[in-house]
Amino acid sequence: MTFELTFHGAAEQVTGSLYLLRAGDATVLLECGLIQGGRAEEERNADPFPVPVDSIDAVVLSHAHIDHSGRVPLLVKRGYEGPVYAQRATRALCDIMLPDSGYLNEKQAEHENRRRARQGKPGVEPLYTRLEAEESIARIEGLAYDTPTGIAPGLTLRFLDAGHILGSAIVCLDYDDGSGSRGLVFSGDLGYRESPVMNDPAVPGRADTVLLESTYGDRCHRPFAATLEELKGVFESASASKGNILIPAFTVGRTQDLLYLMARHFDEWELGRWQIFLDSPMGIEATEAYARFRHLYDVHLFESDSRAPDLPNFHATLTTEESMGINAIHSGAIIIAGSGMCSGGRIHHHLKNNIWRPECHVVIVGYQARGTLGRRIVDGVSEVRLFGETYDVRAEVHTIGGLSAHADQDGLVDWYASIDGRPDVYLVHGEPDAQQPLLTRLKSELAAPAHIARHLETVRL
Ligand SMILES: [Zn+2]
Ligand SMILES: [Zn+2]
Repeated sequence: MTFELTFHGAAEQVTGSLYLLRAGDATVLLECGLIQGGRAEEERNADPFPVPVDSIDAVVLSHAHIDHSGRVPLLVKRGYEGPVYAQRATRALCDIMLPDSGYLNEKQAEHENRRRARQGKPGVEPLYTRLEAEESIARIEGLAYDTPTGIAPGLTLRFLDAGHILGSAIVCLDYDDGSGSRGLVFSGDLGYRESPVMNDPAVPGRADTVLLESTYGDRCHRPFAATLEELKGVFESASASKGNILIPAFTVGRTQDLLYLMARHFDEWELGRWQIFLDSPMGIEATEAYARFRHLYDVHLFESDSRAPDLPNFHATLTTEESMGINAIHSGAIIIAGSGMCSGGRIHHHLKNNIWRPECHVVIVGYQARGTLGRRIVDGVSEVRLFGETYDVRAEVHTIGGLSAHADQDGLVDWYASIDGRPDVYLVHGEPDAQQPLLTRLKSELAAPAHIARHLETVRL
């Protein structure tokens, strides 16, 4: 039986998920994600796919995050005409996120081309455009959870809830060539059990081989109650200082977690005195997707049949005019805006208006990559540059670390332990420093046949 997998991305690193699966004569791409990081790394996104595009029979996506889905438009641009399977809500989120990624590509290419023009060099093309991304959505076939679907001769796909973001899936692939069946289970990005909105990750039953993400393989999250106390403390001190609160947040997942937590703790955190703004067109669209697919999680986030969060004093500011209206508010505004790492987006305008004011607060709720403005703010720089001007950092900066969308080491180990048959497990989607402690624990505690997936390594399943 031919049933094997080659690691072409997210091996000993986090981004660029892409695995090539061969099942008999069928060729399947498991994930088609964008490489994110430094310039040299991102240039690899334009490399040829590991096999000719017309030899690929199907693509399977675990969830909508760009590091898992972001090369789908490129694949379609290069002639792929087959199906891309994803959970239905993932399709809806891709419809928001992939065109945004195309738009960013166009901006990046414009910027690069201005530089090249000055040096007399020929211009570059964007990886794909907004329009090309929009067109690629038609290839995505949305499936419900727990619905076995034949995607190639003998090969059956089933999605289970991974509890990471809306629509996120554990991918179960069973192959039966008539001589017996083998099962591959890929964790996708596995959710954190304490995460406020999403369900706990599902348990897949049996598997012969497991691919396990390992983003936080080296750490355990602090108790969630402590995170709630920290948030309460931020609102209390901000009330006393009478400024604004800025929250740079990722538009999918973290934003909805915050809205839900503010709704649930509205009285306790005395939020009635604040106006709450979601100042992000993509965040508003993503929140609408959370409303449309509210049957996929079990908390109450929206008013009965509306798409507005069940949160008093809430304003979704879609247009530029509405967004600029917030500039006039000097006190009592909670502003959630992108981008999550302050690398662009409307948060820049709010930082410009507030970061130099000691009565204001900046609340960092997500991971800040090295080299981003968000990271510099977390690291405590005394001034920042915005729109060509320098501003002193006088606002109080709070870092809330406990709102992760990823399982920690305990969560990863427990999830693997819940699968029958102690299958071979390959660690993917993690930096080596995070993978090693997880590998050691899986081996010592569970006697698991555990391995770190190596780039371009092929394993028989
Ligand atoms: Zn993810
Ligand atoms: Zn990921």
